[in-house]
Amino acid sequence: MERDGKGEHAPGSARGEIYRHLHRARDFCGKQDLARALGLSMPTVYRNVRELMDMGLVGYSGEQRATGGRSASGLAIVPEARLAVGVSVTDDRLRFALTDLRLRQLAYKAVPFAPDAGFEELLARELERFLDENGADRTRLLGVGVAIPGILSAGGRRLLFAPTLDVRDVRLDGLYDSIRYPLHVDNDANCGGSAEWFIRDHQPNMAYLSLEGGVGGAILIDNALYTGQTRRSGEFGHMCVEPGGLKCSCGRSGCLEAYCSVRRIHDEGYSLPEFFSRIQASDPVCGAVWGDMLRHLAIGVNNIHMALDCDVVLGGYLAGYLESWFPLLQRFVADGNILGGGASFLQLSHLGSHSSVLGAACHFVQEFISSV
Ligand SMILES: [Zn+2]
Repeated sequence: MERDGKGEHAPGSARGEIYRHLHRARDFCGKQDLARALGLSMPTVYRNVRELMDMGLVGYSGEQRATGGRSASGLAIVPEARLAVGVSVTDDRLRFALTDLRLRQLAYKAVPFAPDAGFEELLARELERFLDENGADRTRLLGVGVAIPGILSAGGRRLLFAPTLDVRDVRLDGLYDSIRYPLHVDNDANCGGSAEWFIRDHQPNMAYLSLEGGVGGAILIDNALYTGQTRRSGEFGHMCVEPGGLKCSCGRSGCLEAYCSVRRIHDEGYSLPEFFSRIQASDPVCGAVWGDMLRHLAIGVNNIHMALDCDVVLGGYLAGYLESWFPLLQRFVADGNILGGGASFLQLSHLGSHSSVLGAACHFVQEFISSV
């Protein structure tokens, strides 16, 4: 059925549909393609594309395609029409990323940080410096997203529990007062999961397992983050994978986090590069620790898959080192998968260690795309 942008469709809805279609498009897309794909009349397409061009959100892609003796011009969104900043707070550094509307990383920096130093002023100061250093146009800045490794209240005004930062129930008013741009604060794994979902052409269902200083996770069902009844969903790091096993930051024993976090490697006395270079050099102690980490990671991954029956994406700082070990991890996972299908559901992050910092910005990017 043809729709003309009038009647049951409010003015502007065709414009939004055209913009979102172009945002998703990976192949050539001209005005006729838009009309066909969205069931819109050509005058509606012309009018709305003109509006989007006037707003600076859409332009010609530079591609041409011959159609019936005439040449059609390709259209594309202008990714840099708006910008967003993501900030990731961990126990030893603040990371900043500037992104465009495709969540491409335009600039990045990391700053050393100690949690007891009071991070609000430092974050606000370093944010302004980061924007200056990269010549970011603040008039195009949609907002600043902050990813924190902890459980946040609805609305992100209180940090309820963050064991890796050694923080329990603190208000974040100081942060909201210090930042002069729209601010969104979220759990780091939720940010990482959102970013992975965003760049995967919106794969509808996905579990994201974040392997950082701690271990966290996010669950995306039907293209939306499932946060749970009390915003504590996806705390995969505190699933027990070894009763009576290694001591965890939460106070219990045998959690996935105790086995598979970066902190375990640090507790063994190594930085990540040092640990993996020792494994390459056949160091038996590091090799045994890593083998133990991979086996417990496979147990955790299978538990998540058994509960949710969807792809499991591994991300976070540690995932950046997993690529050469991925076939071995897949074998461990396939051995423990009683549901069939081997380890085909297991994937490595596309964004590596930058999922959560880019994902912090993703909130504003998604909000903008929905609002056009
Ligand atoms: Zn735990």
